[in-house]
Amino acid sequence: MFTEVTYATRAGSERPNEDLVIAGSSWIVVLDGATAAAGVDSGCVHDVPWLVARLGGALAARLSADRDTSLAGVLEAAIGETAAAHGDRCDLGNPDSPSATVAMVRAGRGRVEYLVLGDSPVMLAPAGGGVEVVADDRLERLPGGRPYPVELVRRMRNAPGGFWVAAARPEAAAQGVCGAVDVREVRAVGACTDGVARLVDWYGWSWDDLAAALDGDGPGAVIGAVRELEAARGPVRGKRHDDATVAWARLEAPSR
Ligand SMILES: [Zn+2]
Repeated sequence: MFTEVTYATRAGSERPNEDLVIAGSSWIVVLDGATAAAGVDSGCVHDVPWLVARLGGALAARLSADRDTSLAGVLEAAIGETAAAHGDRCDLGNPDSPSATVAMVRAGRGRVEYLVLGDSPVMLAPAGGGVEVVADDRLERLPGGRPYPVELVRRMRNAPGGFWVAAARPEAAAQGVCGAVDVREVRAVGACTDGVARLVDWYGWSWDDLAAALDGDGPGAVIGAVRELEAARGPVRGKRHDDATVAWARLEAPSR
């Protein structure tokens, strides 16, 4: 069980926030909905916030009620439930169907389990200090390097050799980067979207800096730091301000 969970999420613009954070007493989930490219037909009557809300709700229901199924199993079932909720009017075979990254951490039974699908990393802070990052960097390794043509991203999404996200295909869950560590080795865990990882990716913070800021000032202040740096130095690529979300949960110190 966590002794404390804190989180913050802030939209990057006037548009609805396409990130979602949800947490329970022993789990956290951070989702980042992929903003649809302008003029692209998603084949779906729903928007990205709908997908993120449905998927998040399905994950929360399962994580709250079922502690036996693996995180990949939980995600597979939640993607399946979300796909069914689309109904008949949506073409779920469309490669531009709404999608989201997934970062999940669950504590229990002496272990901390994690799953990362897409570019929202998980942080594991060892008892001895610092932080270990679990990332899925497949989107960073597409052929040809950035900037990626829209057509390349479409072809590589949820395809062998490409990158995987939670959309309408439950088998994507098996592509997550997952694992588990002994709960006694971890003092805190976290997850964030790339809107927060900009601190490290673009603005010179180390992951240790980020973990220390989450420990000290908390998630709201960390997102404030992102916004200040974006205002002062601008984006390296893409949106000036992205939706930004981070969750941080402390674990009980092991009894000696
Ligand atoms: Zn739909």
